[in-house]
Amino acid sequence: MGVCQSLGGLVSVGKLLRSFRHRGLAVPRLDRFGEVVWRTPTDSIISRILKNPAYAGAFVYGRTRSCGATYANGKTITTRRPMEEWKVIVKDRYPAYIGWADFERIQAMLRDNHAEYVRNRTRGVPRDGAALLQGIVWCGRCGHKMAVEYKNANRYVCNFLQRSQGGPLCQHLPADPIDAQVVAAFFATVSQEELEAWQRAQDTRRQTEDALDRAEAQQVERLRYQALLAERQFNRVDPDNRLVASELEHRWEAALRELREAEEALTLHRASRTQPDALTSEERDNFLALGSQLPAIWHQAGMDRSQKKALLRCLIEKVILHRTSPERIDIRIVWRGGEVSEAQVEPKVYALHALSRAADMQARMLELARQGLTDAEVANVLTSEGYRSPRCHHVLARTVQVFRQRHRVLRGASRTHPRHIPGWLTMSELARRLQVSRGWIEHHVRNGTIVIVRDVAAKRYLFPDTKKTIDVLKKLRLGKIDHINFVTSTSK
Ligand SMILES: [Zn+2]
Repeated sequence: MGVCQSLGGLVSVGKLLRSFRHRGLAVPRLDRFGEVVWRTPTDSIISRILKNPAYAGAFVYGRTRSCGATYANGKTITTRRPMEEWKVIVKDRYPAYIGWADFERIQAMLRDNHAEYVRNRTRGVPRDGAALLQGIVWCGRCGHKMAVEYKNANRYVCNFLQRSQGGPLCQHLPADPIDAQVVAAFFATVSQEELEAWQRAQDTRRQTEDALDRAEAQQVERLRYQALLAERQFNRVDPDNRLVASELEHRWEAALRELREAEEALTLHRASRTQPDALTSEERDNFLALGSQLPAIWHQAGMDRSQKKALLRCLIEKVILHRTSPERIDIRIVWRGGEVSEAQVEPKVYALHALSRAADMQARMLELARQGLTDAEVANVLTSEGYRSPRCHHVLARTVQVFRQRHRVLRGASRTHPRHIPGWLTMSELARRLQVSRGWIEHHVRNGTIVIVRDVAAKRYLFPDTKKTIDVLKKLRLGKIDHINFVTSTSK
């Protein structure tokens, strides 16, 4: 069978499955009426085909053994025997799709893959550095449970559909920022606001119970009136009319019984109604003190990951994650008791173009840069407009610089402050005028041959834009003079 042969090139059931899905290939199955139907493959179908020796032409008996136990439905629990323990192997029994050697090679490959899988799984058990929400994270996109994977850093992955049907990976999210956000929410549960929220919830509960109590009391009142009515009817009847009298007596009794039951229920409900828990001030203080201690307890040296995970699970039922845009992950925390709180993280993005508003941002960046703003100014404007850099929550001047240079909006060092100051020459302007390198002037300024002080306002050296400046510098270059003092000459 082509499936088996192609495994050689693809190495794993998962890859084989993906290639089947990619090409839209179906595989034959027997349905429950024994008819052949063509189905989209799943990993279990493919692995069953790969493990079936019939495709290698062999008749095999005794591939499983009983464990001596049964399932609840009475079916015997069996386990697979290793190939060397199969009871009967009759080769060349059926037309073979693949040779026996290939079959054995495929079995070895599957075993190796399984061993790798088990290793991966054991690697994922809680250890220091493992993601905290392992086991309680769910995918907000498709609803499946998410797994933890380690790839440079911990991440939560939703690979259920990929694993079972060879579809694409649903989503993968960086674990660390999500964990941090959930832990922060966890700390916040033991806070003043939560206490107030709890008290509001208590008030609502009390109001609901009051309303129910009123309704029940009204019902008792109505039943009491009906019993009274029945009593009057009975009293008015002619005692000689026995048939009617007995019927009315019967009704009166029934009404009384109903009334008694309702009264008893009401009494019971009122007695069992817990007095709304009003906290004493001492209890409040204790609760709030715990809140402030929690972060300290959390960061204690003795606290290991599994204890932290256990603590989180005390309050958190599950966490649902959904990446709504490349730089935004919505987190829904479902607390035990059903309360839900929501948070967001803005994870790092690997590159500028991966940001959801990248195109707008890039266009705006070039526009601003062409207007002559410095990189830092462009970055500030973009940040104020709500943009951000891939790896941080605001726009970095470096992001602007890299992008600008890539798009050839170049700006020499002198043009960082592009305005020419009339009457003065910057070092670069002077260097151009003299046709020397900027470094040559810098060198002489540094070793004191040219005495000049930095202009405080312009944050740079400014040389008087005069013929005299050019002349003296030319002389210096030709070695005719060895000293120029701009400080005294300009202060005159
Ligand atoms: Zn998913």
